[in-house]
Amino acid sequence: MPLHGRTAIVTGSTSGIGLGIARALAAEGADLVLNSFTDSAEDHALAQGIAAEFGIRARYIRADMADGAACRRLVAEAGGCDILVNNAGIQHVAPIEDFPVAKWDAILAINLSSAFHTTAAALPGMKARGWGRIINIASAHGLTASPFKAAYVAAKHGLVGLTRTVALEVAGQGITANAICPGYVLTPLVEAQIPDQMKAHGMDRETVVREVMLLRQPSRQFATTGQIGGTAVFLCSPAADQITGTTISVDGGWTAL
Ligand code: NAD
Repeated sequence: MPLHGRTAIVTGSTSGIGLGIARALAAEGADLVLNSFTDSAEDHALAQGIAAEFGIRARYIRADMADGAACRRLVAEAGGCDILVNNAGIQHVAPIEDFPVAKWDAILAINLSSAFHTTAAALPGMKARGWGRIINIASAHGLTASPFKAAYVAAKHGLVGLTRTVALEVAGQGITANAICPGYVLTPLVEAQIPDQMKAHGMDRETVVREVMLLRQPSRQFATTGQIGGTAVFLCSPAADQITGTTISVDGGWTAL
């Protein structure tokens, strides 16, 4: 179990990519802190289920990643961590002139500022132990732009910049910071959009996925949450000890275009 004895905090890990990463790290033996902004019985049951499935310790801690102080409290309540995965993120699509200010502020807070706060809180413990992995879940939109996604694109570009800066500040101390940049990943959120897209375009599932949703993804295939989890596991392996301050695209060729 290569990650036995390591503790990972994964923000926004009750669904989608965060949950996929949490499961992949647990499969390698890491103890987990799962997180979202809710505090339901299902949230805690999810952690208990993963703990039982993989024979690791797991708990759920509620913290709203829109709130900087709550981000720092999450790390403190977890007792620090060896692996920090900044994954929580939201999206809103609108032309700049109509972009609601509250949405801009929320996206910048959750998709970018939360990583600043959790990283600042996690680094002292990582430095003391001489080992740490910071994995920021950016996006193909951290490297390229799309219209109507001003806040998301700005936040994800910012997250890539933050990743590089953190990597430089801790270089040589056993701590790496990298960003994974997924293209379109088949999460429950994306899956739920398929029926509407089929209706709107009058296409069957396969055609709407290939011709509409995956237009910018040359492989014309979704990435999976398991593949993003596998990439995170790789970044925690000794093979990745000298990989820092960089981005790893898992985007079916999107950013090669
Ligand atoms: P998702 O909606 O399935 O999961 C998001 C998670 O974040 C959920 O657990 C949600 O509860 C949590 N969350 C949302 N707001 C929060 C808050 N304020 N505080 C704490 N937790 C909060 O989304 P996903 O598709 O799995 O996306 C996860 C990350 O991956 C995001 O940062 C997203 O930008 C990025 N990403 C997704 C795709 C994709 O195609 N799905 C592609 C590239 C990047």
